[in-house]
Amino acid sequence: MQIKNPRTGEYDYTLNENTADELADLAKHLRKNQMEWNNKGLEYRSQIMTQWAQNIEKYQKEIAEQLSIDTGRIKISKIEVSGIIGMIKAWSFKAPQLMKIANARPSALNSNVFIEQQMVPYSMVGVISPWNFPLLLALIDTIPALYAGSTVLLKPSEVTPRFMDPLEKSIQETPELAGVLKLIRGGKEAGKAVVNTADAICFTGSVNTGKSIAKVCSERFIPAFLELGGKDPGIVLNDADLETTTDAILRSAAGATGHACQSLERIYVDESIFEAFVNMISEKAEAVILTAEDPSQGQMGPIIFEQQALKIQDQINDAVSKGAVIHTGGKVEKIKGGLWCRPTVMTKVDHGMKIMTEETFGPIIPIMSFQNVEEAIKMANDSIYGLSASVFSKDQKNALMVAQKINAGAISINDGSLTNQIFDAEKNSFGQSGLNASRMGDAGFMRFFRKKAMLIQTANPAGMASFEEGKND
Ligand code: NAD
Repeated sequence: MQIKNPRTGEYDYTLNENTADELADLAKHLRKNQMEWNNKGLEYRSQIMTQWAQNIEKYQKEIAEQLSIDTGRIKISKIEVSGIIGMIKAWSFKAPQLMKIANARPSALNSNVFIEQQMVPYSMVGVISPWNFPLLLALIDTIPALYAGSTVLLKPSEVTPRFMDPLEKSIQETPELAGVLKLIRGGKEAGKAVVNTADAICFTGSVNTGKSIAKVCSERFIPAFLELGGKDPGIVLNDADLETTTDAILRSAAGATGHACQSLERIYVDESIFEAFVNMISEKAEAVILTAEDPSQGQMGPIIFEQQALKIQDQINDAVSKGAVIHTGGKVEKIKGGLWCRPTVMTKVDHGMKIMTEETFGPIIPIMSFQNVEEAIKMANDSIYGLSASVFSKDQKNALMVAQKINAGAISINDGSLTNQIFDAEKNSFGQSGLNASRMGDAGFMRFFRKKAMLIQTANPAGMASFEEGKND
């Protein structure tokens, strides 16, 4: 598979896809090794994971360099690698707390029966990830699954595969880990093979792919943990601090070129501050510098995936043809072979336009005004998605009251996209943004186990006499 470089537009990398036979062999290998990985216990697994973190540190520079070619972003790539090292360390602290198995305890319903809970991990978890944060989203589910005692078949996105080469080195240099974590290279077909092989699936990607994976998983009767797309709304109440609110919304919407599931993608502003808000955010959006001329200067990188650029341009065209007004940016540009889009502030938009209803995954900020809060909440909830949202107000209590009425799994108050920094708050996706247990908080670990109950009778068990009709009624 020939892979495009997002900065140059050139095909400069060959992805050697795993064949179906190779994948089947790797899966067999994993299943064979899982029992020992689980039996050796969490302390052992923590030691191996810590060695892996050290080996990732050894290849940190190389992984970040390859990631920055994959995504065209230098700083975010460095943050991804250090974030992953931090995540391995954080789970080594958290997992033992969650795994502490309570001593056998008497049942509240019959004190002669003692209950002993056991946690049985899925043998082989399949992880399938997208291109927007290639390393982070490949490992965010993989790490806790490995701590839990599962093995992992990991298939990152074919759009951004370069980072896998140095990551593979860090895995191979941790031999005990290499036996329980296998990287799969390939696209849709490889993803399908993983779904058809593993015992549980963690999928991050689009709603359409998520739905087709859910169908296969339901046929196979295995769990699918789905983290899908969003169209996150931001509500700006009339007492919001304009300076900090515009900073936060611009960062959330345009940071990482808007390629984040929890980017704010539609903004509703109280009409009393609408004009001041639009002017201020447009000015700040105008000042954003693309890293097109010099990769080490500026704040915003290229559009990573060509198909996404087409989608972004199509949504802009649709909005403009229906009367939207563009204040800044407004088109996908080709610069030095790469595709770029400046932060684009838009008004005179409505819910008849794709830009207000479909996921854009680009740095576009369409803004509508509202007369009262109920109207804002109604518009925020007018969506098939329910990933996350934001509310801005100096009155925290009021902001929380508004937040409670929004149908989404995580609401940032007076900031945007906090779920990309705060991993210990459990949240579920609403609507079509996802399904099943949260990857955040304790559930991010606990979902890899089936709970098993040992029910220990310490008295004489009852016999058929206990059902004898007419006695002791
Ligand atoms: P995508 O659905 O096209 O692909 C995601 C992954 O699935 C890739 O690895 C791909 O090869 C694989 N795949 C494709 N078809 C498959 C199939 N039928 N069976 C199995 N695997 C298959 O998504 P994308 O374009 O790579 O990613 C962007 C999407 O991801 C956006 O919608 C974004 O919102 C979403 N996303 C969600 C979260 C979250 O936490 N909710 C985080 C990041 C991205």
